[in-house]
This record gives sequence, C-alpha cells and structure tokens, in this order.
Amino acid sequence: MLLLNADTIVAIATAQGRGGVGVVRLSGASVPEIAEKWLGSLPTPRRASYVNFPDAQGEVIDRGIALYFVAPHSYTGEHVLELQGHGGTAVLQLLLQRCIELGVRLAEPGEFTRRAYLNNKLDLAQAESVADLIEATTSEAARSAMRSLQGDFSSAIHELVDQLIFLRMLVEAMLDFPEEDIQAIDTSRRDALLQQIQTKLNDTLQSAKQGSLLREGAHVVLVGRPNVGKSSLLNQLAGEEAALVSDVPGTTRDVIRQLIQIRGVPFHIMDTAGLRESQDVIENMGIVRTHQTLQRADLILLLIEASEGLTSQDQDILNSMPVGIPRVLVYNKVDLLAATINAASQDGIYVSAKSGLGIDNLRDKLLELVGWRNQENGAFMARKRHLLALNQGQTHLAQAKTVTCNPELFAEELRLMQRALSSITGEFAADDLLGEIFSRFCIGK
Ligand code: GDP
Repeated sequence: MLLLNADTIVAIATAQGRGGVGVVRLSGASVPEIAEKWLGSLPTPRRASYVNFPDAQGEVIDRGIALYFVAPHSYTGEHVLELQGHGGTAVLQLLLQRCIELGVRLAEPGEFTRRAYLNNKLDLAQAESVADLIEATTSEAARSAMRSLQGDFSSAIHELVDQLIFLRMLVEAMLDFPEEDIQAIDTSRRDALLQQIQTKLNDTLQSAKQGSLLREGAHVVLVGRPNVGKSSLLNQLAGEEAALVSDVPGTTRDVIRQLIQIRGVPFHIMDTAGLRESQDVIENMGIVRTHQTLQRADLILLLIEASEGLTSQDQDILNSMPVGIPRVLVYNKVDLLAATINAASQDGIYVSAKSGLGIDNLRDKLLELVGWRNQENGAFMARKRHLLALNQGQTHLAQAKTVTCNPELFAEELRLMQRALSSITGEFAADDLLGEIFSRFCIGK
C-alpha cells in the first residue's frame, strides 16, 4: 500500500559544508504541483533537466539539474524531486527556504528511508543497512552493509522463515484439522527439516556476528605496568603518533581511545593509565576510569617486559581484571633481548613496539580472539537487534526440539521462532499461516 497522501518533505541530501555539488531532495504527493509552480514546468521523469531554481521574487538562487521520479518508481516510492545545485551552505539553505515557502515540510532524520520501508521499497533490515553503509568506517564494513542492502541478509531470513512455515504447516494442519485425517507428521521428515533449519540458522548467525563486529568494532583494553610500552604499542598498531610516549612512568594518565582497523575490522583500543598505586590524584582518577572501561571490554591485552617475564606486579594486574573477558599476554621490547625467541614455545606473543617486530602476528591474534573469520560468502551487516532476534530464534528452536512429542508446544515454539526471525525484516504480519495451509494443502479432498 503506497502512502501517496503523505505530506511532502524536503532535506539537503549531501553532507554539510562546501562541495562541488549539493543536493536538495523532496518526496511526497505534492511534488509535481510544487515543481510546476517553482520551476515553471514539471521536468520529464528520469531525465536530467538543466533549469533555474528561482526564489519567490523570481531571482535565480542557483542553476542546476532537476531530476523527477514518478511514484512508485523512486527511492521512497513517492513522487521525488532532486535538485542538484552548487554545494555551498548558503545556496542550499536558500533552496531549502524556498521549499518551505512552497509548503514543504523539513524531513525528520531517516524519514526518506522510513517512507521507502513503509512503501515496501526496502524491508527493515535493508533500511537499517542504508544507515550502516553511510556510517561504515572501514571498506569491509561498507561491503557488508551493501550486501545487506542488496538483500542477502533478508533473503537468508526469508529462506529460514519459509522452511519454518513449511514445518509449521505440517504440524498445525494436524492440530487444526484432526478430523480431516491428515496423517501425523512423519518424524524422520520432521527431524530432517529441523536439522535443515538449524544449519541455516547457524550459518546466518555466524555471518551476522561477523557483520555486527564490523559495525560495532571490537573493544580492546591495553594494560600493563608503567613504561612497559603501551603507548608505543598503540602508536605502532595505529600507525601514527596518537598517545603520548615518555620515559617517565605514569605519563599516560587517562584512557586514550584510538580507532584502528585490522584488515577492515574496527578496533577501539583503549590505552590505560598505569595500573599501580599512586599518590597522584589525577593519575588515580585515570585508574578509576580504567577499571570502568575494563568491564566493557571484549579483550584484555596485558603488556609485559620481555626481559623480565611475567612479574608478580604483572600477575597482580592480571588478577585485578574482571573475570570472563579473554586476555592475551604480549611480551614487549624483544629487540632488547640477547637471545632470539622461539615464538612457538611461548605462552604469549612477542613483539617490539619500537621496531614493529611481531606486530603482524599480534594483529592476527587479535582478529582471532575477537572472533573474526573470513567468511566464504561475506558478512551481513547486522545490528544487536538482529543478533538478539537470531539468538531468540536459536532458543525457540532448541526448545522446540525438546517438545517434539507434544505437537501443541512444538508448534508454539516454531511460531515464536518465526516471529523472532520476522522481526528482523520487519514484516511480521499476524497469522498468515492459515492462508499458507490452504494454498498448499488440498483440504477438500
Ligand atoms: P607506557 O608507559 O606503557 O605507555 O610506555 P611507553 O610507550 O611510554 O614506553 C616507555 C619507554 O619504553 C619509551 O622510552 C619507549 O620508547 C620505550 N619502548 C617501548 N617499546 C619499546 C620496544 O619495543 N623496544 C625498546 N627498546 N623500547 C621500547
């Protein structure tokens, strides 16, 4: 159903600031009327028209390209007009002002995409991936957002939902029409279908987890005694001078966050104040914040002086870490060691933050520990909401398997699973299942 009566909205579509080209976009039912009134005539649909954009007095604000898309063949599914003028702040504001004079309303954030969703141009997961594509900070994240936008994630969900509907159809037909003498579902067929659904769900969850990692990034906390080389390591990983490096213990007073990428995966590295008892008030404040940051980490990286090995102080730091967060020991300053290190026999990773030795090895380890796997089909850009829904689906499926002997409960778990999955694409309509049963089963026979 198209929302053709929705009011007409306008927004500057290009980024703020100066640019060669700036785009003002309008969408809504009154676009043709407004275009005629403003530009003198309605531009030919889907053709670039070079026209004047005049103000109320007829003075030309700018001259540029007008593109008109007739509903429903547009991004939003409504009539859309795009004006491409010069990308100056004042020019675009004047164009916006003119639209408002003509009775157009300023769009709310995301309103064009929301209309696209309401007009069935995109499903919910795709609409979300539009934002994720725009916000992607690494090329890998952008690629996975594009995969979701093109519908890879949605079709994986649809496939799962179709399989579920089929299984539900078999079970529920039995419940709803017992007198019709529909044979009890054959258990080996049921189990095969359940297995098929489980495998597909696992694959989808795996791809979505990777996508979520690309979107959210991994949070790594860097801890260690003062002067062990934390700032130097951060600089080395980031490839730039981000943290303050000094020979005086305790110079890194506060949590320094640095966003780096390792093979396209964003890592938020948090360098911390040296974890030691200190009389220095400012430094102690840093220590308090360090502990707060720790609670939210995906991974704790403890930096150790390679020449000294794991000292009791290092052990104290380790013991002060929250339990349950994976940790990795990194021995630094290997360039100062006389003997060469046999990396294979060590309990940690050996690096030199100064020379860069072993840093690639560390990058591999970090990727592995945060759960990054190079996917054959690539990751889907996924949000926490999606992972939550997939996990819910997982729970209902597990639950369903335990109640196969009770068709009512079994059917109910499948229904809840379908509901959870459909929330991802946003198309959970009430129970359309009966229709599905009638269309596939010959009830009258
Ligand atoms: P932090 O207090 O843990 O942040 O330590 P810094 O990064 O400030 O480093 C303390 C000192 O150790 C500086 O003088 C660094 O240049 C030096 N340093 C750090 N990493 C290495 C390394 O791998 N090899 C050598 N030789 N010196 C290092």
